[in-house]
Amino acid sequence: MLRQALLAIAKSERAERVISSSRLTSDVVARYVASDVGAVIGELTRKGLLVTVDHLGEEVTDESQAEAAVAEYVRLLGLLPAGADVSVKLTALGLRLSRELALGHAATICREAAARDVTVTLDAEEHDTIPWLHSVHAALREDHPEVGVVVQAYLPDSLERCDGLAGARVRLCKGAYTAPGAYTRPADIDRSFVRCLKILMAGTGYPMVATHDPRLVRVAATLAVLAGRDQTGYEHQMLYGVRPDEQLRLAGQGARMRVYVPYGADWYAYLMRRLAERPRNLAFFLRSLLSR
Ligand code: FAD
Repeated sequence: MLRQALLAIAKSERAERVISSSRLTSDVVARYVASDVGAVIGELTRKGLLVTVDHLGEEVTDESQAEAAVAEYVRLLGLLPAGADVSVKLTALGLRLSRELALGHAATICREAAARDVTVTLDAEEHDTIPWLHSVHAALREDHPEVGVVVQAYLPDSLERCDGLAGARVRLCKGAYTAPGAYTRPADIDRSFVRCLKILMAGTGYPMVATHDPRLVRVAATLAVLAGRDQTGYEHQMLYGVRPDEQLRLAGQGARMRVYVPYGADWYAYLMRRLAERPRNLAFFLRSLLSR
C-alpha cells in the first residue's frame, strides 16, 4: 500500500514541486545522490569499487532536454576511468517523443563511451517502455555489442527476456516501478529473480546482479560457481548509499562490485523510488524534516 502510494507520489508534479523546493530534504538526498560526482567516483574507485553513473532525469518531453542530457553524458564520460559504466534512461533521451530520437541519442553516447573504454547500460523504466527498451537495445547491439540492458524480475516475462538475451550484458534487478500483472509478493519476485539468474549464469553473456538482498547475493555467488564462472565472469551491483559496508566486503573478497552513482538536480523521482523500496527510509525522511 505504502509502496504504491510513494510510487504514485513519484509521478505527481505537484508533490515534486513541494518536495524539491524544500531545502529540508537535503539530508535524504545526500544519502542517495552524489553532490560532487567527480569526488564520489574518485573515492569509490580508490576503495576498489567499480562505478556506473546515472545523470538523473527521465520522462523528458521536449527535444532540447534530450539533447542537454546527451551533452551532459558526453561531459561525464570525460570524468570516468576506463572500465566504468554509464546508466542511461531512454525516456531522458526522448523515448516519449520517438523511438528513433532516443536510439540516435543512445548511439551517440555508446560511440563516445566506447572511445573511452566505458560501457553503457540501458536502465529499465515504466512497464509501457519495456518493449521499446529491448527494441532499442537490440538495434544498438549491432554496432555496440557490449551495450547492456536491465531486466526486472517482477515482470512475469523476465525469464523469456533473459533467454532472448544470449551473449549480452544483462543487469538483473527486482524492479522499482509498478506494472499490471507484475509479481508483487516478495517470494514470487525472489523466485523469478533466481530463475532469471540461473539462465544468465548458465548463458554466454555477462550477468550483473543488482540487489542488496543478502540471500540473493549469496545465491548469485553459488550459481556462478556452479556455472563455472570465476569472479571476473559476473558482477554485483548496488546503489550509492545502500549497504556500503557490504559493497566493501564483497570487493575485499575479490568480487567485481559496481556502485550505481546518480547525480544531478532532477533527483525527485529517483528518491521517491528509494523511499518506496524501504518503509524505514520514510521514517528517516520524516525525521530529517522534523529535526530542522
Ligand atoms: P529488497 O528486498 O528491496 O532489499 C533488500 C535489503 O536491501 C533491504 O532489506 C535493505 O536492507 C536494503 N535496501 C534495499 N533498498 C534499500 C533502500 N532504498 N535504502 C536502504 N536500504 C535498502 N530498478 C528498475 O526498475 N530499473 C532499473 O534499471 C534498476 N537499476 C538498478 C541498478 C542497481 C545497481 C540496483 C542495485 C538496483 C536497480 N533497480 C532498478 C532497483 C531494483 O529494482 C530494486 O528496486 C532495489 O534494488 C531494491 O531491491 P533489492 O533487490 O535490493 O531487494
